[in-house]
Amino acid sequence: MNDKIIYDITPFTHLDYPNKLAAIVWFCGCNMRCIYCYNSDIVFSKEGEYTPKELIAFLKKRVGLLDGVVLSGGEPTLYDLLPLCRQIKEMGFSIKLDTNGTHPDVVKELVTEELVDYIALDFKAKNGKFGYITGSSRFDKFTETLDFLIQRAFDFEVRTTVHPDLLQPEDINQMMEELKSRGYRGPYYLQKFIKTNNNIGDIGEPITCFDTTKLSNLLPIVWR
Ligand code: SF4
Repeated sequence: MNDKIIYDITPFTHLDYPNKLAAIVWFCGCNMRCIYCYNSDIVFSKEGEYTPKELIAFLKKRVGLLDGVVLSGGEPTLYDLLPLCRQIKEMGFSIKLDTNGTHPDVVKELVTEELVDYIALDFKAKNGKFGYITGSSRFDKFTETLDFLIQRAFDFEVRTTVHPDLLQPEDINQMMEELKSRGYRGPYYLQKFIKTNNNIGDIGEPITCFDTTKLSNLLPIVWR
């Protein structure tokens, strides 16, 4: 495998990791093709700017300046994250993982080995729309990750990107029902679709209205 698996590094953010100053590591490639994704450059990249070794060298210079590291992409769990996370933790950083949840084995290993501190889990869509929106048939893998994190009482959040032509309030309500029935009790983060020149699908600004008054109050909703 090409060693330059890191598309890019954002050296500093206070927005992506709750209550922490962090660097963001953008991993090349993804096993999904979400219609609304605006990171197509990263999703389709086969070679990035940095190797894991170069990332570690970069982070060594940030000890004492940053609190944490966000592993994002693309989909970080496409890679063997264990050795990398071990080195990052040894330097004293907290680790947040952004994931679509389709590699439960990787998530389970990281959580069990205490090599990750916080996870942002994408809930792309309910089962009936999951394949269409993501191009993936791994809904059952997503729910395996979700169930595992709930059962472990792990510190994580669930988030969904909302494009009203793809997801309507009744879809979101069904997704909340699913989350609640599986035992999730945290906030449900809804992110508004962002139109760029790089969206993977041929999708524009929504033509459908999203009536937020139709959303149920099954879970506390936080818009981003
Ligand atoms: S939005 Fe979808 S396609 Fe884009 S990086 Fe995330 S999971 Fe991959």
